[in-house]
Amino acid sequence: MTLRLTLLICFMNLSLFAQTDDDAFFVKEIYDYTLENSLCYDWLTILSEVIGGRLSGSFAAETSVKYTYHIMSSLALDAVSKQECSVPVWQRGDYEMVKVIDDTSGNEFVLNATTLGNSLGTNEIGVKAPIVEVHSLDELKELGEDEIKGKIVFFNRPMNNTYVNTFRAYGSAVDQRASGPSVASKLGAVGTIVRSMTTKLDDIPHTGVTVFEPDDNMIPAMAISTNDAEKLASMLPNPSISLYMQNSARILENQLSHNVIGEITGSQYPDEIILVGGHLDSWDIGGGAHDDGAGCVHALQVMATLKALNYKPKRTIRCVMFMNEENGLSGGKTYADKSNQNSEYHMAAIESDAGGFSPRGFGVGGTADAIKTKFPNVREWMDILSPYGIGISPGGGGADINPLKSQGGLLFGLRPDSQRYFDYHHTALDKIAAVNKRELSLGAAAMTSLVFLLDKYGLGTR
Ligand SMILES: [Zn+2]
Repeated sequence: MTLRLTLLICFMNLSLFAQTDDDAFFVKEIYDYTLENSLCYDWLTILSEVIGGRLSGSFAAETSVKYTYHIMSSLALDAVSKQECSVPVWQRGDYEMVKVIDDTSGNEFVLNATTLGNSLGTNEIGVKAPIVEVHSLDELKELGEDEIKGKIVFFNRPMNNTYVNTFRAYGSAVDQRASGPSVASKLGAVGTIVRSMTTKLDDIPHTGVTVFEPDDNMIPAMAISTNDAEKLASMLPNPSISLYMQNSARILENQLSHNVIGEITGSQYPDEIILVGGHLDSWDIGGGAHDDGAGCVHALQVMATLKALNYKPKRTIRCVMFMNEENGLSGGKTYADKSNQNSEYHMAAIESDAGGFSPRGFGVGGTADAIKTKFPNVREWMDILSPYGIGISPGGGGADINPLKSQGGLLFGLRPDSQRYFDYHHTALDKIAAVNKRELSLGAAAMTSLVFLLDKYGLGTR
């Protein structure tokens, strides 16, 4: 090796280090600013406690559209807009009840229950029938129409608590809630109750969406707390036990609602979009603090921090508050449709929809080609985030941004610590009291840092 070449390589290494130092310095500025000045918690307090549960089509959902539009407008972004989308309107109504009745003794006990979203209510008389407990959709199908007709099906498979990642545990059980009522109705069941989706044993019922097929008879569908599921299962050997359920859920005509979108236009590559987002809608029974007010304020804080640090991005940074993730995904689908019509390219999209707990890193997804060609770029500079406890792993994205996958960019999901998420998910407890201000701010700082690195280095050719 010639001296000249050796010197050149030394110089290149030095400049690379200098660059890494600059990056580390700016990331520290992002963290410092966010931990001292973040407005996340204040915004989330308004969303959760003042506006409250924001199910699509509700007054609260529309108020949250106006509120976040107002926040974006106050940040002096280059453009702020609302994007129309048509959303389903499901209302719980004011009555819901599940109780166990012992027909021999006349004894009754009321269960902690909540109606499942997108299901239809009973009439005023309610439904009373014998109970069949099952632990899987397969077990239900094997029992068949003879065993199921005229009964109330009780899905009682717990989440698999041996999985360290609680989202994986959720995935191991949620088919019972999402598809169970539809399958039970096809076999002639007159109602369904589902063990709540949580890692805990407690008295809190968890709602969530259930999906009926167009030809299904929409039988009533409700969730009961895990303690009550255990208790009910223990009572079932008694043949004189039956279950009574009543609720006033209804479905109204679709309504027009909105995604809220703000952007800082890129100075060099405005056509390469880096999206940050969360979903504005939430279930009605809590304040939608972790799910997904936290993701919304994370994304808003990314924009606020970049502006406050006077950062001028090369690429377009776009913040999106998606509507209707919980019971239809209309916002995410509409956004992607419009984006494709306009031939846009989302180089990267980052969704925060896993709570406001301490961030542990990001999951990364995309087409096989995107993972092969673009993920190695990310790996190169993720070390800058490791001092903050931020790692990166395959498997990511989010329900609202996944429809953007076909544009060929990378999809990121913020991955906070998941251990406490299902203590609150889809419950009346998902309020600001369940959120820690510092942990929430750290999520915003992690996202802002990733946006900075994506913007600075890009992901290679499109
Ligand atoms: Zn969510």
